[in-house]
Formats: sequence, structure tokens, C-alpha cells
Amino acid sequence: MDLAGVLLQGMLSGIAPHLPWLVPLVLLAIVLGFPMLGRGPNSTRRDPWRGFKFAARETVLERAGRQCEASLLLAWGRCGAPAVEVDHVVPWSRGGPTVVSNGQALCRAHNRAKGARVPPWWYVLGLERRRRRYFPAGADVRVLAVMGDADRAARARPPRRRATDPLGPR
Ligand SMILES: [Zn+2]
Repeated sequence: MDLAGVLLQGMLSGIAPHLPWLVPLVLLAIVLGFPMLGRGPNSTRRDPWRGFKFAARETVLERAGRQCEASLLLAWGRCGAPAVEVDHVVPWSRGGPTVVSNGQALCRAHNRAKGARVPPWWYVLGLERRRRRYFPAGADVRVLAVMGDADRAARARPPRRRATDPLGPR
């Protein structure tokens, strides 16, 4: 046996006694880190609209009652701080579109603490469970990192001008 083989065998025999707890631990880490399936994004292409603005931003803040939607611990409790930022649940850098269904209202601290990782399934389920308590009746609590037809239509619409606009219709 060559040196590499000897080293490998030594390493494996060192690990072998720990396998009964090491394997379940690794499996658990994989399961807990898994993203929510079937909620998008459909591609990793970045949305040309980077940040939440105007009506989309207001909608996300308003439906959360302008209170941070983050949990106090893992998936439990709700942060009591006022929401000041609208954040992408599935990060923009990972293909999460800038649409209301992928938005969450966060306080300054929680927005800063949030990394650019796709959140795991239990984070999404916890957020949706909390939302059932404070979202206005009829509002969809689901996180959906997909651009729908309504989102596309809202973007295609030219900015509205009021009749009192001093510049008049152009
Ligand atoms: Zn918070």
C-alpha cells in the first residue's frame, strides 16, 4: 500500500467509531439547510429592479403593520421593532425577484443580520405561520419568489399622471 493509502485508511479508522453520530448530524444539517421547494426562483437571473420602491414597498410595510416580520428565535416569536426596510426573502443576488410576494418588512437590526443566503424551508414556514396572525384578511401569506403576471403588468404600466399635473399629459 502506498503512503496515500495508509493515510486514508488511518483517517477512516479514526472516523469509523464516530460514524454512528456523525452521519445523522451531517444528514440533519443538510435537511435543516434545505430551501423551500416549489416557491421559486425559477432562474438565477437577477431582476433588473434591485430594490423595493413606491407601491410595492408600501404594500409590504403596510400588510406587516409596519412592524418587523423577523422571528425572535429561529422560527418562534416576532420581533417587536418598527420595520424600516423591505427585504427580499429569497435574496436578489440569488435570483429572488423584487415583487411583493418575495418581500418582507424588517427592522434595521434584522435587515443587517440577514445574509445573502436562500432561507431554509423552516424559515419560510415560520414566517407564513406568523403572518396568519397579522396579515389583513384575504392577503396571501405565502412567500413566492416568482414574478407573476400581475407583477409584470404593474411594471409595464406607464407612470400615472394626475389631471392636476402642471406638465399635463405628455
Ligand atoms: Zn426585527
